Amino acid sequence: MSKTLIQKVDTAIKLLKTAEQQAKNKPQKMVKVPTPSWNTICGGCDGVEYNALIDNNLVEVSYSGGKDSDVILHLARMAGIKHIAIHHRTSIDPPGTLQHCISNNAVIINPKETFFQIMERKGFPTRRARFCCEILKEYKVLDTAVQGIRTSESRKRAEIYKEPQICRIYGNKKNRVEVFLPILDWTDDDIKEFIKQENIQCHKLYYDDKGNFCPEHRLGCICCPLQSTRKLKEDFEKHPSFVKAYIRHGKVWFDSHSNTSSHANSGIFTRFSYTMYSATPMRNTHANTAILLLANLQNHCLKNILR
Ligand code: SF4
Repeated sequence: MSKTLIQKVDTAIKLLKTAEQQAKNKPQKMVKVPTPSWNTICGGCDGVEYNALIDNNLVEVSYSGGKDSDVILHLARMAGIKHIAIHHRTSIDPPGTLQHCISNNAVIINPKETFFQIMERKGFPTRRARFCCEILKEYKVLDTAVQGIRTSESRKRAEIYKEPQICRIYGNKKNRVEVFLPILDWTDDDIKEFIKQENIQCHKLYYDDKGNFCPEHRLGCICCPLQSTRKLKEDFEKHPSFVKAYIRHGKVWFDSHSNTSSHANSGIFTRFSYTMYSATPMRNTHANTAILLLANLQNHCLKNILR
């Protein structure tokens, strides 16, 4: 391991130990979370859900199943701190994510509503209106958490996270979480080197057909509106069942909002129709035109995409 990386690992481990100390000082209580049963996760669906109880004095490792959270989890194990990996299930996770979380002993939390149920109620998420993220991912579980956020992941992040390698606190008084970011300054090369050196097995999506590790692959929600149009198109082409679901559930929302101008704000639908139907982008489109386009889009998808 390079000298620089050794220093970064040492710093991360110190930070994780500080997080453990902080967690010990937090109120002693068991936190109840809705978790799916093993059978439900593995497809043998018996529809059973139960409430797991998690000790609040543990450090929560926010575990998405991506490579950065694998690195954080490995560091927590190296540091020997009392921790628990927690995965917020979104219902639009890429295939293999649940299995990867299970193989790393993560506690999986079931969402109260699925992504498509949320869409029926609130419409299409956009880059600015990431209500699905708020509902499916950004909620508190334990009082102390570590996350695998890195500034090199995006320019915007680099701007936001100028101050706190140490920690940041978010939430109001009642909902406060103390968050530590031990790999905030790690580069892509650091991550790659650490994964190789420590022989960490990542999610299968990070490997090509020959089994080579490809850190540039990204693991995120299928059809996430935050990704580029090119990536969104790839997602739609790879997952035609999602195209169907978008149309079906999007229509429920459109039908219940037929007289509003909110269609103009349905950013992902704009991009959805633009990428898949090559239609004129729908910005500022009147509601009735939007519904017409939706019907056209549905026909187009049925003929050309969902063969
Ligand atoms: S689809 Fe994108 S915006 Fe929505 S929860 Fe997933 S990551 Fe967040």
